[in-house]
Amino acid sequence: MKKNKSLFVGMLLGAITLIAFGSTFFIFQNKQQQKEQDVLKVVTSFYPMYVATANVTDGIEHVQLENLSEPETGCLHDYQLRPEDMKLLSTADVFVINGGGIEEFLAEVASAYPDLVIVNASEGIVDHGDNPHVWMSISSYQKQVLNIAEGLAAVDKKNQDAYTANAGAYIAKLDEMKAMQEDLAMASQGQPVVLFHEALEYFAEDMGMEVVYTMDLDEERQVSAGEVAEVMGAVKKNDVSAILADETYGKELGDMVADSTDARAIYLDPMVRGEYDKDSYIAHMQANLMAIRANFVAR
Ligand SMILES: [Zn+2]
Repeated sequence: MKKNKSLFVGMLLGAITLIAFGSTFFIFQNKQQQKEQDVLKVVTSFYPMYVATANVTDGIEHVQLENLSEPETGCLHDYQLRPEDMKLLSTADVFVINGGGIEEFLAEVASAYPDLVIVNASEGIVDHGDNPHVWMSISSYQKQVLNIAEGLAAVDKKNQDAYTANAGAYIAKLDEMKAMQEDLAMASQGQPVVLFHEALEYFAEDMGMEVVYTMDLDEERQVSAGEVAEVMGAVKKNDVSAILADETYGKELGDMVADSTDARAIYLDPMVRGEYDKDSYIAHMQANLMAIRANFVAR
């Protein structure tokens, strides 16, 4: 009797093991198939690239879009990849980057994942020296959108038409905003300005402004008394009409300079973070243009 019972327990355990092993195998195989058949996993390096790629891949069912974890301050410069970023990239098929050197971790990614397809959105776009903030010019951002569409179509050829159509539709929407900007540029043309963020160089150029001084307040840092004196000097000497700054890092100094000179401070969004929504570039750029209108047209 005792012997029979242990035999029964043994058989039961064997059966459980078999079922468990079988179902694990089944799940594993299922995942493999899913990966091969339907999912194109696209990871973007940071916020503006996420928004651009969300538009290019809009409605294409099998694309899974994710962004690296967001830097806690400023733009992507000096960003160190976190373990969860490396984990995410290990599952990615395509990595969309802004390029221009802003992704300082790029060499590390390329050597860790030699098979990962890297799409450089700034390919062929001329920079201000080595200023990588090209998305701040609507025209350059449109070229980035095209580059992303071409890069994805090269990997996922059967959806080439969909990527091209999406890029075209988004570029047409951006064209409307560019027309608005060109109208406003008639009022801001030739205005001497000071910038408190390198990203705003592209925007100021599109507005036809004359940049007389740039101080890069990309993140929290101490501004020396000497630097403050230099800015004040540049504002007075060039009869600067406006200081263009990022509210997060430039507000303190912007308000101070505006209070003690004839220049006004205009706060703009460098679009390095925001809602993960495909229309957010347009919404933020529009807000930037409204700020210019309020200061140069409706004044
Ligand atoms: Zn930056």
